[in-house]
Amino acid sequence: MNLRAVKGMNDILPDEIGRWHRLERVFRATVKLYRYEEVRPPLVEPTALFVRQIGEVTDIVEKEMYSFTHHGDDLTLRPEGTAGVARAYVEHTVHAKEPVSRWYYLGPMFRGERPAKGRYRQFYQAGCEVFGDPGPAIDAEMIDMLVKLMGDLGITKVSANINTLGAAGTRAKYRDALVAYLMPLRASLGEDSQRRLERNPLRILDSKDPRDAEIIAGAPSILDVLDEDDRQHFDSLRSYLDKLRTPYVVDARLVRGFDYYTRTLFELRAEGAELGSQSAVGGGGRYDRMVKELGGPDVPGIGFALGLERLLLSMPASAGPARKWVLLAPMGDAATAEALAIAKSLRGYGVAADVDGRGSSLKSMLRRANAAGATYCIVVGDAELAKGTVQVKDLNGHSQEDLSRTDVARILADRIRSS
Ligand code: AMP
Repeated sequence: MNLRAVKGMNDILPDEIGRWHRLERVFRATVKLYRYEEVRPPLVEPTALFVRQIGEVTDIVEKEMYSFTHHGDDLTLRPEGTAGVARAYVEHTVHAKEPVSRWYYLGPMFRGERPAKGRYRQFYQAGCEVFGDPGPAIDAEMIDMLVKLMGDLGITKVSANINTLGAAGTRAKYRDALVAYLMPLRASLGEDSQRRLERNPLRILDSKDPRDAEIIAGAPSILDVLDEDDRQHFDSLRSYLDKLRTPYVVDARLVRGFDYYTRTLFELRAEGAELGSQSAVGGGGRYDRMVKELGGPDVPGIGFALGLERLLLSMPASAGPARKWVLLAPMGDAATAEALAIAKSLRGYGVAADVDGRGSSLKSMLRRANAAGATYCIVVGDAELAKGTVQVKDLNGHSQEDLSRTDVARILADRIRSS
């Protein structure tokens, strides 16, 4: 039997995990400065949650969800984080406990897309959600935080594209303008877009079908039909971004793949990265209707998600300092028991230690210690034990010495700490 990982779902092996940890550490440290707290909703939610919030006529809901029925419940592996987090916010009546909540999450998402570099079927997102703040100050702060985060990760060529989708009034006007423009061109659109023209014309702006590109480029701009308060919101967002000196580009065609967005919308693209067509490293926007639609009060929301694989592809390669550690090489049964005890006291001093339990030759254990980058190898043998000592090999300095069995852990821990 030749069982392999599911197509589009990747193993992340230990030799790659250091970069993941670094990325996750920088993300957590940054968002904590802005007072976001972590929330961990389940990976599986009722299918209806995503269908209603993401929208029935979207690529994700129509084609990409991993949905299944289990004991009569219709369930789906989460394709994105916002809907589940908002569901949790409503379910636990968090609005009654605090007027504003700043939450973040980090974990895998699932979408049955066609796999390519930077596009997978299981991928990781880190995201933030703010409930209870109508903006636009928080909108600007969030975009500014993202640009700063990119800089901290060493991703310097980033552009932040922003747009607004307005509230219901603007949306209705824009929908009419878009349909009036697209109707006469209907026959030239791709099939998906033709089908969406009546049910969800805004989605056509997000089409990746090359037949639609030119038509989309000539479409009317939503910025021309904004209601007064939507315009004010967008103008203030821009002036706050200017004040923060956050570079941004206004892109009136930006719609993104979810129906739940209202007003502010943004996307971060890493330029010149190894990403090819998958240059969007993250994006988000305002979703002022979601909490109410989920049965909660009229609480506005805004959030974003970053794609961790794409960030890793855009980040410069950097080898962090290797952690120092000790390999114990016991020769025989009594020596193994002694090695386990020494390893335990090393760890008690905060030093990583690994006992080679293969019962192999000294030569082979030393080869392993060198290849795996151990700092010291402690050889525990019968002759040394009889004298109450062990032999310590410094694998970088290529020297060796005998140390007392009872002091060795403390001495090496001191050396490692002060090196
Ligand atoms: P979205 O949830 O669609 O707003 O996407 C936010 C970010 O998640 C994107 O900018 C990507 O970086 C990442 N992302 C979305 N879909 C995928 C995927 N299929 N594979 C890898 N990353 C993805």
